Amino acid sequence: MSDCIFCKIVAGEIPSEFVYEDDRVVAFRDIDPQGPFHFLIIPRQHFKSIKEMKDESLMGHLLKAGNRIAEENNIEDFRYIINTGEEAGQTVFHVHLHLIGGRKMTWPPG
Ligand code: 5GP
Ligand code: ZN
Repeated sequence: MSDCIFCKIVAGEIPSEFVYEDDRVVAFRDIDPQGPFHFLIIPRQHFKSIKEMKDESLMGHLLKAGNRIAEENNIEDFRYIINTGEEAGQTVFHVHLHLIGGRKMTWPPG
């Protein structure tokens, strides 16, 4: 999707450092981290939310990538969050898995 910020990140149109990437997903640091570690893991393909992403294998693959990133960064305790819909706090409508961890994690905000 041409006006989607995460599609632009996937396409390299917005320069970002990928902490992980493969043929299906990419991961990068959240611009506004809610803890010492805050990564976003996203499918390369655009889905508005997890509700549109019917592919179970891709769902599992997102989590597997997250587990690997946690392990590589020695993050023992962490949270996964997938905000779905505006009322739940979704602000970017390209499905993404938050991985938030480390001491002093401040999620949920407030
Ligand atoms: P949501 O609220 O939709 O679950 O999460 C969107 C997340 O994307 C927020 O935590 C926000 O900080 C992050 N974000 C928004 N725009 C950008 C960006 O351009 N680059 C990066 N790295 N993160 C972004
Ligand atoms: Zn997108």
